[in-house]
Amino acid sequence: MEKNIEEIINVSDYLYKNKLVAGKAGNVSARFKGEDGDLVDQQGNLLPKRKPSSEVDLHLEIYKKRSDVNGIVHTHSPYATGFAFSSKRIKRHEGFGAINTPFLEDIEYEAPGSMKLAKSASKAIGDEDVLILKQHGVLCVGDSLKEATLLATFVEETAKTQFITYMLNSTADLI
Ligand SMILES: [Zn+2]
Repeated sequence: MEKNIEEIINVSDYLYKNKLVAGKAGNVSARFKGEDGDLVDQQGNLLPKRKPSSEVDLHLEIYKKRSDVNGIVHTHSPYATGFAFSSKRIKRHEGFGAINTPFLEDIEYEAPGSMKLAKSASKAIGDEDVLILKQHGVLCVGDSLKEATLLATFVEETAKTQFITYMLNSTADLI
């Protein structure tokens, strides 16, 4: 359990340092198999239970739906979230797995933290590993928390490249 907690802390730190989340935004989770949920400090004292993230239902509904998912990362990374707030969609580049549709899957806006959002995301996820939450952010899943984290980084890089491409294409040549 301690190792898992350490991984969650490391991933949260990575997401923050790489500007995939800001302030208290975003959240991560991992499925711990066959382990007791109690946390203890280094002296073995039981730590009080912390209040989970406001998006706890979003994570739980996806774990219920996908037994292959062991890690979930939800970010508001700026480029991908920019697409989520616009009418443009993120193209599915090479590296997004076996699914062949031209764009990453997105779902319509539901209030953050709501069960409606959780249900809508778990319904839409299917075999996808990425969902764009319209007017909100990004959700990535993986068979490990590390995989989900790498995917969240890849989604942001992809969105950034596409944004730059749109900008270059929309301006006149200088020479
Ligand atoms: Zn959010």
